[in-house]
Amino acid sequence: MTFIIASACVDVMDQSCIEVCPVDCIYIEDNDRMCYIEPNDCIDCAVCEAACPVGAIFKDSDLPAEAQAFLEINQLWFNNKDEARERVNQFMDSGLG
Ligand code: SF4
Ligand code: SF4
Repeated sequence: MTFIIASACVDVMDQSCIEVCPVDCIYIEDNDRMCYIEPNDCIDCAVCEAACPVGAIFKDSDLPAEAQAFLEINQLWFNNKDEARERVNQFMDSGLG
């Protein structure tokens, strides 16, 4: 299990989640439009979920159907950042965000 960041984070990125994560497993770089959780390091504490001002963070099993793409996008960022960023742009351009 892991927690997932979904589209409500896009272009908000206030980083409250990064400040509270006890294992520092939430990441963002300068050219990102959202933050990403490293699924292998997340300890499922849920602290970030409560800290997010826009409700962008979900337990993976609670992710809404319309946000399922972010399961893959969060993991993808740790293997291919450019492709993950492109997937985020596509999702937002599709009007689903
Ligand atoms: S659930 Fe806990 S460990 Fe996982 S990303 Fe959130 S704050 Fe970090
Ligand atoms: S707290 Fe929420 S909106 Fe802020 S950076 Fe984290 S996931 Fe994004």
